[in-house]
Amino acid sequence: MENRIYNLSAGPAILPEEVLLEAQKDLYSYKGSGMSVMEMSHRGKIFDGIIKGADADLRKLLNIGDNYSILFLQGGATLQFSMVPLNLMPPKNKADYIVTGAWAEKAVNEAKRVGTVNIAATTKADNHSRIPAQAEMKLDADASYVHFTSNNTIFGTQFRTEPVVGNVPLVCDASSDFLHKMIDINKYGLIYAGAQKNIGPSGVTVVIVRKDLLERSSDSLHTYMNYKIHADNETMYNTPTTFGIYIASLVFKWLLNMGGLDEMYKRNLDKAKVLYDAIDGSDGYYKGTTAVDARSLMNVTYRLPNEQLEEKFVKEASAKGFSGLKGHRSVGGIRASIYNAFPKAGVEALVDFMNEFKKNN
Ligand SMILES: *Cc1c(COP(=O)(O)O)cnc(C)c1O
Repeated sequence: MENRIYNLSAGPAILPEEVLLEAQKDLYSYKGSGMSVMEMSHRGKIFDGIIKGADADLRKLLNIGDNYSILFLQGGATLQFSMVPLNLMPPKNKADYIVTGAWAEKAVNEAKRVGTVNIAATTKADNHSRIPAQAEMKLDADASYVHFTSNNTIFGTQFRTEPVVGNVPLVCDASSDFLHKMIDINKYGLIYAGAQKNIGPSGVTVVIVRKDLLERSSDSLHTYMNYKIHADNETMYNTPTTFGIYIASLVFKWLLNMGGLDEMYKRNLDKAKVLYDAIDGSDGYYKGTTAVDARSLMNVTYRLPNEQLEEKFVKEASAKGFSGLKGHRSVGGIRASIYNAFPKAGVEALVDFMNEFKKNN
């Protein structure tokens, strides 16, 4: 990794080196076309091939059937906080939200502008250090949908399995763990993910929506806000973020070449174990901030004996080429984001640094 650092940033985050090199090779003239992907028409033949390839590869990765549409939208996960209720909440006008962190709270705030929000469960009283048990969830069988956040980027917790929601459509903000393992897509009504954590550059948001739910989108919605318009136009209602979709398409190919999501999951389990073992084996010097059974494979959050040491830790780590370790400003501490693209060698190097730092401090 010449001239590259260990990038542990929570997002925008590290991309696979192979993907960057491939994009670099084609940046100036995409496969002999004489132009960059950034410079070509989104309705031209070449880009049509790129976006169709992205759709096909994502379907292959997650085994997505024809009963789902894949949309590549803009506005980040944040716009989905609004688009989900605007499209899916009518006509019943109430929805269940499982609140496990700051992003879920933001999703709730937007849904409240559209209809009635039932907080089916919240871990706020425990500072979002755990994932609620199924038995805790007060789900409403008449809700328009149930919304949850599969991985809590700031607090470092992650659902092991989906909430069981019966016939109510399950909606998931998977921004920070999308494609980290195989899931059964048929459990979901809709999944959305901003690209900049696990699948590409900021600016693209993947939305996978079951087609029957598109019938809920009212004609009275503003055009861009309407899922059905985007689905009917195969993401081409307006100019999509072409370069971002191109990079995401390379990431999908990278995952397929590696052997798919079961292989990715194996590597993610392996990487996270190295880091959590180091935390647990540090005689309490490093302390995980979450319940053990809720630990995220993507964002590993921990603390040192005091804030001065944490500051020193981040500073010295940075000098050694580990970037992005400072915890989110709202919670402090340390956060190591070890998304799909982060290499195991980087985790091992970080553990070496942690052991060394402990010895010296
Ligand atoms: C980063 C993040 C968001 C916000 O994404 P934007 O692209 O900034 O809108 C939402 N949800 C989760 C879980 C995230 O990690």
